[in-house]
Amino acid sequence: TKFEALGLQQSLLNAVSDMGFETPSEVQEKAIPILLEGETDLVALAQTGTGKTAAFGFPLIQKIDRESRTTQGLILSPTRELCLQITNEMQSYSKYEKSINTVAIYGGASITDQARQIKRGAQIVVATPGRMKDMIGRGLVDISKIDYCILDEADEMLNMGFYEDIKDILSNTPKEKSTWLFSATMPREVAQIAKKFMHHPQEITV
Ligand code: AMP
Repeated sequence: TKFEALGLQQSLLNAVSDMGFETPSEVQEKAIPILLEGETDLVALAQTGTGKTAAFGFPLIQKIDRESRTTQGLILSPTRELCLQITNEMQSYSKYEKSINTVAIYGGASITDQARQIKRGAQIVVATPGRMKDMIGRGLVDISKIDYCILDEADEMLNMGFYEDIKDILSNTPKEKSTWLFSATMPREVAQIAKKFMHHPQEITV
């Protein structure tokens, strides 16, 4: 398939085929080879519905160290609905990778339950900024060793007033990591985040 040509491993190709994806979308075609190839920062201008979740989700899953239970990837998203949707997609993508766990962290639900899930080992955490900040503050999640940080719908997160929370969360991540920012639009605040927290990002637009 054309997904093979992007460099995805067999377990992901099997999941792709189970989901009935036949050809990669434009953002997938552009982002996946860049993200798989090396450790780079990326700014992607892409709307919802373009297949952007898989564009960052496949490379992230492929890059996770299966031998470790440490949290290695953090995905920040603006709303609880989106957070759950991304988590579901990630779980489908990694269905043939039994050692990979993705956990959702969001407000309005039991923090104790979420902390328990994190404690069992979650290499990938999908979170809304408010709850994430809260859990970091209480020592319930450790993102000090992540290798990948994804800011999904960055413009929406900033519209919703999460700038300070995002700054706070990012200050708890290591300097040495890759940051992948996805946004439908590029207002000044998003450009500022990119400038402040990213290093020579590659850029794609779909
Ligand atoms: P997203 O933009 O990530 O919210 O994805 C929108 C929808 O398109 C989701 O339901 C995905 O499961 C689906 N999707 C993503 N990539 C593909 C693809 N290559 N072919 C068909 N459907 C896809």
